Amino acid sequence: MTEIQANLQRVRERIARAAERAGRRAQDVLLVGVSKTVDVERIRQAIAAGIPALGENRVQEARGKVDEIGRPVPWHLVGHLQTNKARDAVELFDVIHSLDRLELARELDKRAHARGRTVSTLAEVNVGGETSKGGVAPDGLGRLLEAVAGLTHVKVRGLMAIPPEAKDPEDARAWFRALRQLGEKHGLPELSMGMSGDFEVAIEEGATLVRVGTAIFGARPPQPQTGAEGR
Ligand SMILES: *Cc1c(COP(=O)(O)O)cnc(C)c1O
Repeated sequence: MTEIQANLQRVRERIARAAERAGRRAQDVLLVGVSKTVDVERIRQAIAAGIPALGENRVQEARGKVDEIGRPVPWHLVGHLQTNKARDAVELFDVIHSLDRLELARELDKRAHARGRTVSTLAEVNVGGETSKGGVAPDGLGRLLEAVAGLTHVKVRGLMAIPPEAKDPEDARAWFRALRQLGEKHGLPELSMGMSGDFEVAIEEGATLVRVGTAIFGARPPQPQTGAEGR
């Protein structure tokens, strides 16, 4: 068994146990394997091991990988998206987790329309109100959703959040719960929340997509900060 196979199996078991604790079904949680900085060979191993979806945080990096690997599984964009990359994003990704402003929604709508498709998105919410992070403020979410509802080729399926960094995964629980409550308030069923350090807590709080990198692919090399897309 490869290291990635073993890691994936462990993550799957942890997802199943967390779902069980919450009285949920494991198949209602989509595991998005976050493959940023991971090379094509290891991504292929994850696909062979049965990873159901892949997540990237940079359009350009994803383009190279999609060109090489194709789309045996859906690709998700989990990182910040610059408006001038909306066209590429529509071409590359099945789901965009980082819709956080109307200007971006309008551009995605235009580009999706031109390609004759509808783009599925999640609205990213800055639950912790951190200035260093993207995402719409919780009290601006209603306005954004209303405006996006008027667009024909962009659909918001749910919400996404990256809560403030914490040592203890339990510290994230209140943020996850806040996101779920926002989802309920706005009738949005999908919740993208939880990473390697806290996906079990996220599942207990209702996550329907978890974004897991390190626990599957191992530690990443330190990343230089390169501006808007560098988070
Ligand atoms: C890198 C990243 C992840 C995965 O983080 P891990 O801690 O390695 O699981 C999840 N979500 C986003 C938005 C990321 O950028």
